[in-house]
Amino acid sequence: MNYRHAFHAGNFADVMKHLALTRILAHLLKKDAPFRVIDTHAGIGLYDLATDEATRTGEWREGVGRLEEPFEPAVEDVLGEYRAVLAAVRERFGETAYPGSPAILREMLRPKDRGILVELHPADHEVLAERYHQVANLKALHLDGWTALGAMIPPREKRGLVLVDPPFEEPGEMDRLVAELRRAVEKWPTGIFAAWYPVKDLRAVDRSLAPLAGFPRPVLRLELHVERPNDPAKLTGSGLVVVNPPWTLKAEMETALPALAGRLARDDYGAFRCQEMGPQA
Ligand code: SAM
Repeated sequence: MNYRHAFHAGNFADVMKHLALTRILAHLLKKDAPFRVIDTHAGIGLYDLATDEATRTGEWREGVGRLEEPFEPAVEDVLGEYRAVLAAVRERFGETAYPGSPAILREMLRPKDRGILVELHPADHEVLAERYHQVANLKALHLDGWTALGAMIPPREKRGLVLVDPPFEEPGEMDRLVAELRRAVEKWPTGIFAAWYPVKDLRAVDRSLAPLAGFPRPVLRLELHVERPNDPAKLTGSGLVVVNPPWTLKAEMETALPALAGRLARDDYGAFRCQEMGPQA
């Protein structure tokens, strides 16, 4: 396990993924009934962009670092919760703080909602457990995220989200992601599942995601491209598959993604995708 998210926190992929996460949570929060979020690959929860790791790659500068200027009002509406979470963690932990998915849950969940934070790396799990052990509705578990995905659904609350955000260190992880999602959806047909994937070789991504078209539930394929996908070894885009997306998510991302593609583009190339797959497409 070599991947450390501290090198990548706040990059363009985090911005896209965390924005979508805040929109899904905002949707779940509209109803009074409690819900559960299972974060299968949680990381350490909160990052400091002034650390050696973050400074060495400087990735955040081309991600959250480019969001200081406001966008047009319709885009800012979609970014509202994401910006509120950023402001809250900066206020509490300092101007260079950046929230990972657990910190976003910490800010947005109500006391009656629950978050399960699964992390396999022993040191990262320890940081996570130490950070949230006093937060009654968050629980950090030292477990394999894929095992957790199979074992923890459907949750008692019967509504909620599973965020699947693996490091993609091993070959075949993309196919595994789709296969695991399929199994999970069969086990919990009404749950929302959001799974992140890297976009490097676009044709390989298309091939791996093709089975989504045969999923029994609606699927939204979201992508943000910040560089022309010419080099199959380079991360040029960020993808998120959302199964059972909130009905508002497509329109929201169709508003935000073009603006992010414009703002986060490198060498003048920015693009996005917002594609329905599955039975509704
Ligand atoms: N979801 C986090 C966020 O948005 O802030 C970032 C997660 S990072 C991309 C992936 C994390 O998965 C790393 O912290 C890594 O240690 C952890 N990891 C790797 N393999 C795992 C496994 N099999 N089960 C659970 N966690 C794993």
